[in-house]
Amino acid sequence: MAKTRRFLIAGNWKMNCLRKDGRALASALARRMAKTKGTRPPFDLLVCPPYTLLPLVAEAVKGSGIRLGGQDCHMAEKGAHTGDVSATMLADLGCKYVIVGHSERRSNHGEKSDLVKTKAEAALAAGLIPIVCIGETEAERDGGKTLAVNRRQLKGSLPDGATAKNTVIAYEPVWAIGTGRTATPAQAQEVHALVRAELVKALGEAEGHAVRVLYGGSMNPKNAKELLAQPDVDGGLIGGASLKAEDFWTVAQSCL
Ligand code: PEP
Repeated sequence: MAKTRRFLIAGNWKMNCLRKDGRALASALARRMAKTKGTRPPFDLLVCPPYTLLPLVAEAVKGSGIRLGGQDCHMAEKGAHTGDVSATMLADLGCKYVIVGHSERRSNHGEKSDLVKTKAEAALAAGLIPIVCIGETEAERDGGKTLAVNRRQLKGSLPDGATAKNTVIAYEPVWAIGTGRTATPAQAQEVHALVRAELVKALGEAEGHAVRVLYGGSMNPKNAKELLAQPDVDGGLIGGASLKAEDFWTVAQSCL
């Protein structure tokens, strides 16, 4: 059956790029997008730069159709939270999406699913689409716990009020992030099918089948086509390969 969900190709720049490189990268992508004008490519393109670059990247991609997102947000709308940024602030800068629960937040900052859920709900309240990340560690996979861990994280992190339009899920096996090791298409599809089944249970048939579920973990121009061809893989959350315009663009072209 042909996929009806529109692909989302999202670049997570993490803590990379100063202004010059960020501007050059965003402009290079905007030029490529401009060439597709009138053809409506089958993917949405999203970049999630560090906070410091958001206004500059917003300016560089203006009018190109490229979406802007944050890499994290605080669960509160405002207040005494030194060093944090709220979803409302991201929306104010023109963001449409925000990543929550990335494994680097879960491991470096001790974020657990209940906190991720409240962040996702803050994103919804601000009119942003949260990209809710889940994924097992290598030890969990080796211990045969992959499906249980992803089920638990999904159930614990899914925001109340989630719909297919306002929420995206990203399956990112921790052992594949930044390591050059990628899940095989079959490994990815197995977890994506589980996520799909859980979404159907939580949101009902129609909504559950319409939610976009991204794969993340060393996706690159060489492996993107096969991963994106899996029935429940609706795009990618891409780290390293999103820092080179040509690579990121080639990944997006793999949706065609
Ligand atoms: C990520 O940071 O979400 C990610 C998938 O990184 P990489 O593509 O570098 O593995």
